[in-house]
Amino acid sequence: MIRRALLTDSHGRVMRDLRVSVTDRCNFRCMYCLPETEAAENFYRERWATVLNPTRITREWQPKKNILSFEEIERLVRIAAGLGIQKIRITGGEPLLRHDLEQLIAKISGIEGIEDVAMTTNGFLFRQKARALLDAGLKRVSFSCDSLDRENFRRITGRDGLAELLAAVRLAQELGFAPVKVNAVIIRGINDHEIEALAAFAARESLVLRFIEFMPLDSGRAWQREMVVPGKEILQRLQATTTGLAPVVSDNKSETAKRWRVAGSSAEIGIIAPVSEPFCGHCNRIRLTADGKLRTCLFSTVEHDFRSRLRDAATDEALSDYLHEVVGQKEARHHIGEPDFKFASRSMSCIGG
Ligand code: SAM
Repeated sequence: MIRRALLTDSHGRVMRDLRVSVTDRCNFRCMYCLPETEAAENFYRERWATVLNPTRITREWQPKKNILSFEEIERLVRIAAGLGIQKIRITGGEPLLRHDLEQLIAKISGIEGIEDVAMTTNGFLFRQKARALLDAGLKRVSFSCDSLDRENFRRITGRDGLAELLAAVRLAQELGFAPVKVNAVIIRGINDHEIEALAAFAARESLVLRFIEFMPLDSGRAWQREMVVPGKEILQRLQATTTGLAPVVSDNKSETAKRWRVAGSSAEIGIIAPVSEPFCGHCNRIRLTADGKLRTCLFSTVEHDFRSRLRDAATDEALSDYLHEVVGQKEARHHIGEPDFKFASRSMSCIGG
């Protein structure tokens, strides 16, 4: 591998983590991401007296020709690895909708310098692919699970998929993916009453659970600050109900979660609070969208086109230079809650969470 200068931005942060979205399509309609169901419309109207914003992002799937091929993704990852990227997270949309995903995992896992390949999924199609993904080199899986109540799960995600998801989580543990993580986005009035149940579930099943604050990345642009349950409030509730929460001390400053171990279990609970306690100062993440645009922040209003460069026969050196140029422009921080906040140009499902 040809090693070149690390991807360092103008604030001195070194990029180590590349999130790769492999499709913009999703088989769920989560109300905090792609709120296109009647239940989501009703919730926003009835509970918050708000409708999905007229400036909402109307979804149009990208035509297939716009989506990066596995070879194109592999090439970019190889180049990024030469510039210090160590960790790849495969995401989407729903990554398991991408055919033959295990082939991409195998290609990426073999790249020198890549130490960790993980995937975020809603789990609905996981069981069919689990073994192939493991054999291909996938090490870690994060499942999205915002409710343990079948009806509430359906309301949030638009899909009657809780049983399938729980079976997927169990299978991931049996096969030895480690850790098996569960992410829960908490929205006031929709699933905040399940915080304690989710924590108890994690403790019982020895899972790593992350509570995530709702961010203004929904395609409906219905997000309001009042809908966010701040990390501190989540923690207070957990401390009141979960015995023996011991803080995990970490020297990894780029970690997004504050973490606690649960006494008497190998479970771990974390809180990711990008809205109430931003951690941009140590952000080492960049994101590649399924259609080949690089984003330097979840809330970027600009994107950088790698697809056309890849297809215009740019050399590896030219692509490396462009990566440096783009990372050099990484935003210092997000501006959620400030008067100058602008919604990102795309929803989380298109960016890749
Ligand atoms: N489809 C996969 C899944 O459901 O995990 C991967 C893509 S999804 C966009 C990745 C992650 O983003 C999920 O854990 C989801 O909960 C999170 N997410 C989506 N919209 C969000 C929002 N508005 N605020 C916080 N997290 C969000």
